[in-house]
Amino acid sequence: MEKTLVLIKPDAFGAGHCGDILKMYEAEGFKICAAKILKMDEKIAASHYVEHIGRAYYDDLVKFMTSAPIMALVLAGENVIKRVREIHGATNPDNAAEGTVRKLYAESSTRNAVHASDSPENAAREIKIYFSELEIFED
Ligand code: ADP
Ligand code: MG
Repeated sequence: MEKTLVLIKPDAFGAGHCGDILKMYEAEGFKICAAKILKMDEKIAASHYVEHIGRAYYDDLVKFMTSAPIMALVLAGENVIKRVREIHGATNPDNAAEGTVRKLYAESSTRNAVHASDSPENAAREIKIYFSELEIFED
């Protein structure tokens, strides 16, 4: 079954939205295969956001992502990579569709509540940053 890596970012985690967000994944039939709470450090941030190093928003992004705890999840299901990104909505909450996580909970393009992998290659790479094989339960 396809898997994706989700992060509930410091803004949504701190505001107490984890339960509501998890409910949205389960309502779509996705299985939670792994979950943990952690605080990102700069090393994890540089690994996770390797494609964004050098962009204008990178320093603000790292400052935000390392500011407070996050929840990391592995979700599984049919077409889960694309469908979770649809549930999350556009990166900039001003452009996010009604009912999406970012429309409901995001404040800005940086403080935008959630992350989800964008390809099978990135999902596999990102899952390994947060979880060992022993921590992932597929069935
Ligand atoms: P997504 O999280 O929707 O996949 P990207 O991969 O393009 O978006 O960017 C990664 C993260 O970097 C975003 O979720 C957001 O927190 C931050 N980011 C991206 N673009 C911008 C921007 N133009 N201004 C501020 N922050 C941004
Ligand atoms: Mg992305």
